[in-house]
Amino acid sequence: MVCKACGHINQDNMAKFCSACGNELQQESQNTVYQESVYYQPPPQRVPNYLIFSILTTVFCCLPIGIAAIIKSSQVDKKVAIGEYDEAIKMSQQAKTLSILSVILGVVFVIFYIIIIAITSTALR
Ligand SMILES: [Zn+2]
Repeated sequence: MVCKACGHINQDNMAKFCSACGNELQQESQNTVYQESVYYQPPPQRVPNYLIFSILTTVFCCLPIGIAAIIKSSQVDKKVAIGEYDEAIKMSQQAKTLSILSVILGVVFVIFYIIIIAITSTALR
């Protein structure tokens, strides 16, 4: 039985539910070979969630964008768990983009901060 939801091939042909995602399986034994070729999906792949990167950028760089990156990161593993690899990859890329954006803004902020300190200290002299 090939699961239509996640593409997992269940060894037990009489199984009612997919052993990978729990989705209900439909008994359509007459064209199993055809189904296997149509519903075949690539095996589970590792999708980087960038969670550590997101947390670090939140702490050291830009808090609001960092939090958005953490939220995206936490969704990556959830999407992988339910077999939505396209969504997982999308979330992973968004987490990476947000983390990088957070780093850039963090750096810009630090530069501005240094400039302001420099101006104020010169003005006070
Ligand atoms: Zn399944």
